Amino acid sequence: MVSAPVRETTNTTTEQTAERRIVVAEELGYCWGVRRALDIIEESADPASRVAPIGDIIHNPQVVERLRTRGVEGAQSVVEAEGRGIRRVAITAHGMGPQLAQDAAAHGLELIDTTCPLVTKVQRLAQKLVRQGYYIVVYGDAWHPEVRGVLAWAATSKSVAAKKIVDLPWNAPRGSKEGASPPRKVALVSQTTKNIDELMAFAAELQAMVVPEGGEFRLCNTICEPTSERQSALKRLIERDKVDLILAIGGKKSSNTARLAEVGNKRGVTSYHIERPDEIADAWLADVRTVGLTAGASTPDDVIEEVVDHLTARGFSPPDGGIRPVDPDYVPAY
Ligand code: SF4
Repeated sequence: MVSAPVRETTNTTTEQTAERRIVVAEELGYCWGVRRALDIIEESADPASRVAPIGDIIHNPQVVERLRTRGVEGAQSVVEAEGRGIRRVAITAHGMGPQLAQDAAAHGLELIDTTCPLVTKVQRLAQKLVRQGYYIVVYGDAWHPEVRGVLAWAATSKSVAAKKIVDLPWNAPRGSKEGASPPRKVALVSQTTKNIDELMAFAAELQAMVVPEGGEFRLCNTICEPTSERQSALKRLIERDKVDLILAIGGKKSSNTARLAEVGNKRGVTSYHIERPDEIADAWLADVRTVGLTAGASTPDDVIEEVVDHLTARGFSPPDGGIRPVDPDYVPAY
């Protein structure tokens, strides 16, 4: 497990309360799976033999641009990559359905698989649940590559992606005389980057629809450990450091960064999801003494450092002990 520096709780002397400071969550930024995927891609990168991740290798535009200079250029499909003369394609950390590997083989392209093992776990679980006769509900964004990949591996018409009860094909509990009600066996898995509180609220509503009349409901919490840790670290930061403002740093398409900003706002601290330091309006900082920083799983350290520099230039003292240490031996539970 990544061990974060121990930060002293601030004593409330007059001098210290007058200080403007930056505090950082104990867990933030690149997760294990993204770091692993980038390591694989960087090892394979060769400007003389370009590789095309299908979709964004990572939801961070700065990193995507950096990799482009090393011959890593995203494509939307195998056909598009081949049309651009690229002979190697890659599956991103979010994973993809089995069709991609079949397409690559059919076109004679090399395939580099950087799927996070924690996503692979959800894909295999979905397959197992289908074999056991469950209707699969994937709690997540229907457009997200990870969710689409999980549904593709499940390979059944008895599956759906949903974030709200109205997204489901049912609107009544089992046994109702009116409306559409769920089948007898329903299993719920989650997109790995979702918010645990929201997953639990959704699960409770779905369970209430499924269990009447002998229905069987199974909840599989597949939110990954790094995502859970980032959310928990942010909650601890809010309680411990009495922050006035939270900046959640990450690409605009980063689901887990958006969730972090939601966690802050739901706990009553004004929180913004930003991609770059120039998005920070001076007005946000007007009455702020303590800024809390967190960052999504695809946010590189140098982008977090740029935000720290932006704030220190405006009179905030930098975080004690830097942004965080990295434990090269860390492997999440799965
Ligand atoms: Fe893997 Fe979790 Fe990171 Fe996604 S957020 S790449 S599942 S470790």
